[in-house]
Parts: sequence; C-alpha cells; structure tokens
Amino acid sequence: MNTYKGKVAFDKEQCVLCQTCVFVCPAGAINISCVAPQQSYDFIIWHNTCTLCGNCAYFCPTGAITLSSTLAETTPQSEKYTSITANTVEYGECPKCHEPMINVPKTLLQKGFATVNEELTTLFSLCPKCRRDHTFAKRVL
Ligand code: SF4
Ligand code: SF4
Repeated sequence: MNTYKGKVAFDKEQCVLCQTCVFVCPAGAINISCVAPQQSYDFIIWHNTCTLCGNCAYFCPTGAITLSSTLAETTPQSEKYTSITANTVEYGECPKCHEPMINVPKTLLQKGFATVNEELTTLFSLCPKCRRDHTFAKRVL
C-alpha cells in the first residue's frame, strides 16, 4: 500500500465537487474526473507536482482541502504518479425525492449562516428542488 504523505490533506466528506481547487492550483496538481455522472468522482492530488502554495486550501469553500502539519516527503520522479492522495467522492441522495445530490457539509453552512440549527441542517439535507418546494410551502401555504 502507498504510504506517502503530502502536506495537502483532503477530506472527501467535506467536498462539494465545486472544482475551485483545480482552477486555482498553479501546478495542475489536482484532478477531479467523473467516474459515473451524478454518482461518483475521482479526486487526485499529485504530491510531487504540488508546490505547497496553499491556494487550494485558501479558496476551498468547505475546508475539505487543507495544508496538514505532516511533512511532505520528496519522492523520486519515477514515483511521480504513485505519490498521490486518491479518493472517490460520492453523491448522496435526497431523502425526499431520492434524486442524487451533492451533500452540503456543515462547514459550508457555518460559512453562510450565523446559526446552524437542526432546522437548517434538515433543510440543506434536501436537494435544491425539494428545498425550494419546502421553503415555498412553508412561507406561502
Ligand atoms: S498547495 Fe498549491 S500547488 Fe499544491 S495542490 Fe494546493 S494549489 Fe496546487
Ligand atoms: S476540495 Fe474544496 S475546492 Fe476542491 S472541489 Fe472539493 S469543495 Fe471544491
């Protein structure tokens, strides 16, 4: 098993697949590719390519990608493609309509709202359509 550790750490539970990290990475060290549309995506960080600039961690809206305190290890160029962090980010499912959806992590809600209570968490566990329906029904009907 690959035991390489890089200074960039990734938490797939917090990732909303926005691709901001891919866009801001000057080294092209991050790749997100579709495995199955609206089901799962591969997320790869090439540590030999990473310059540890911190852009990805700074711009990630959810805190899914961070600079860890683990020292990066240099690896031979021949191991460039094995010195990686590889994860599969999977879609969740709307509890109401059962359509696939990207889960909204609590860290994202905490950035957007002053208070994150159970009602808000429950609302954001729904897909965007069911969320709109729920909010409309509550305010108008
Ligand atoms: S720290 Fe910089 S170079 Fe490394 S993966 Fe993040 S954005 Fe790319
Ligand atoms: S790690 Fe952050 S910036 Fe990158 S795709 Fe996931 S949520 Fe977006």
